[in-house]
Amino acid sequence: MKKKEYAPYKEYIRTDRNGTKYYNERVDCGRCGGTGFYGPIQVFNGECFDCNKRGWVIAETKEYTPEHRAKLDAKAEAARAKKTAEHLAHIPAENAAFMWRKFEGHDHICAILGKTYELKDELKAEGCFYRGEFDGWCAYETKRPCVKVPVDDLIETTDSGWVRLRDDGAVIVRALKEIAEKALRPVSEHVGKVGERITCDIVVEDVFSYKCKSFAGYGMETRYINKFRTADGNILVWQTSAPADEKATKITGTVKAHDDYKGEKQTTLQRCKLG
Ligand SMILES: [Zn+2]
Repeated sequence: MKKKEYAPYKEYIRTDRNGTKYYNERVDCGRCGGTGFYGPIQVFNGECFDCNKRGWVIAETKEYTPEHRAKLDAKAEAARAKKTAEHLAHIPAENAAFMWRKFEGHDHICAILGKTYELKDELKAEGCFYRGEFDGWCAYETKRPCVKVPVDDLIETTDSGWVRLRDDGAVIVRALKEIAEKALRPVSEHVGKVGERITCDIVVEDVFSYKCKSFAGYGMETRYINKFRTADGNILVWQTSAPADEKATKITGTVKAHDDYKGEKQTTLQRCKLG
């Protein structure tokens, strides 16, 4: 919307001891920005009632002498500088408080390895604590398998000097945990001979499913890849039409093939029975 045109008007009132001159002056209405219209059309036809739709109001204006203007500017600048200095002086103490809150004076955290969810009550009882920003269960000292992450890897200092947690702390911890877990895992070897019927003590390590064309010739069906780990650390795989019972501890099956998957030896079984 266009600003209203209006004749300038400026009436001198007085000069104070700093040389500042005071005037009554026509200025753009602050409510409507000088357009004369403000708000919905349903209310007073959208006319601004601060300026009575003229677009201007009379306001007291000031004219400073250059000397006084400079004095005011210097005062404002000094106040700003003082505020900044106070702010900066707080940073070391606030950073220390932050570090204490997050790490209680420790220079590392121990990220607990393995399937921690099932252990959460035990972990809690042992003094471990859950920290989402560090990918899960942590401790400062623990006898459990863990990876020690230096606090320095988890924090950063902003340009203004504040210490904060890195946004990618959980990613860093997860990557370190994955490396450590891989190193702990026993190397899988092939089991039995092709055609041989074998029985092993196992835990169910993973169950994957996928859809494929039904063997009956029409429709789709779900197939399951059941992955087991023997007590010796060997991987057994059994593809079938049902997911393995997670509580199974024994498997009997016929060795169908000795395979390699992502650099790991695995033994594929068929005609299996779980116990
Ligand atoms: Zn107005």
